[in-house]
Amino acid sequence: MNALPRVGLGIDLHRLVPDRPCILAGIAIPSAVGPAGHSDGDAVLHAACDAVLGAAGLDDLGTLFSDRDPANAGRASSEFCLEALRRVRAAGMRVASMDVVVETERPKLLPHRLQMRQSLAHLFGIAIDRVNVKGKTGEGLDAIGQGQALRATVVVLLVERSDSPGD
Ligand SMILES: [Zn+2]
Repeated sequence: MNALPRVGLGIDLHRLVPDRPCILAGIAIPSAVGPAGHSDGDAVLHAACDAVLGAAGLDDLGTLFSDRDPANAGRASSEFCLEALRRVRAAGMRVASMDVVVETERPKLLPHRLQMRQSLAHLFGIAIDRVNVKGKTGEGLDAIGQGQALRATVVVLLVERSDSPGD
């Protein structure tokens, strides 16, 4: 493969609804609202998978795991990550770094940032200092600002896999 690193971008928006578990980056966050969705609605993991798959030039998450397939209903999005990572490794690459922005009015993410970073590092096979998570609000504007939705944006860097220590 071409040894040049590759950048990938993933963006995912979910409606926020009452009485729904709030799972973000694979972490259950106490909240009165949670992201609606066919799976567990984890917008961070969905955007992360799309970023990783996109950088590798592979099919996106919606193509791999259709939201019309009953087998994917209520499914833990961590399973999507395992499959995305498996495909990326098979293509001779690994994740080198990941940067995440979550735009939401609620819940507040600051108390959960470290745990979200740990979870992403574990799921994508990288060191925690190669993963960052930032929370932003919508400043009271649009659907995000009015607390009706949240959006995750993820940028990843993929590099060629080698068998040297640390990979
Ligand atoms: Zn999604």
